[in-house]
Amino acid sequence: MAWMAELGFAGGGVSRAAHLRRDAAALSALRATPEARAIVLAEGQPLMTGGESPEDLALLPLDHPLLAGGAPVWLGYARGHPVFAAEIAADAPVPAGLIRADLRPAAARLAADAGELAATARALHLWHDSHRFCARCGSPSDMVDAGWQRICPACGAHHFPRTDPVVIMLITAGDRALLGRSPGWPDRNVSFLLAAGCRAAPFPLVASSQPGRRV
Ligand SMILES: [Zn+2]
Repeated sequence: MAWMAELGFAGGGVSRAAHLRRDAAALSALRATPEARAIVLAEGQPLMTGGESPEDLALLPLDHPLLAGGAPVWLGYARGHPVFAAEIAADAPVPAGLIRADLRPAAARLAADAGELAATARALHLWHDSHRFCARCGSPSDMVDAGWQRICPACGAHHFPRTDPVVIMLITAGDRALLGRSPGWPDRNVSFLLAAGCRAAPFPLVASSQPGRRV
């Protein structure tokens, strides 16, 4: 559907190229190409272009000084670039012309592919930050698979990023649609109905409880 291309986080066209996550040689070769780019997070906030009004995700070349610590997470291919992600220190200087952006309000301005990249990078970063220790034995675990898994060197347990199966539904009646928004959201930000864990909570129940409408 053509309108999907206009929605954030949908139809972004990012190729995850998941088969490369365990191919250290291939990822090393990609990092060495001039086309390689990285998105940068500081405290979970992506660096974006556009000054006080964030416009687009900043895609930095991998030889940028901010990336001296490397860009360990493989996100995939986007806009013709192999794209990685890196986390920088909270007090790291932000390059001129860029801004640390709160992703939720900024997402409305992002193209679908940028939103997908930023959301993926942020989710992985937050997961690594809160799962540094093995859930089985408590030992510090190591990031592997280019950011998509952690392994405990003490007991060998494998840990994977959290996934939340969800469906997003649009309630329609003729040419009208039921949309919702939070009072604190930026102008023109609206939401369909998010039915998380839909097996446990059938859609009509969620639809009745969230917007308070019978469907
Ligand atoms: Zn362990």
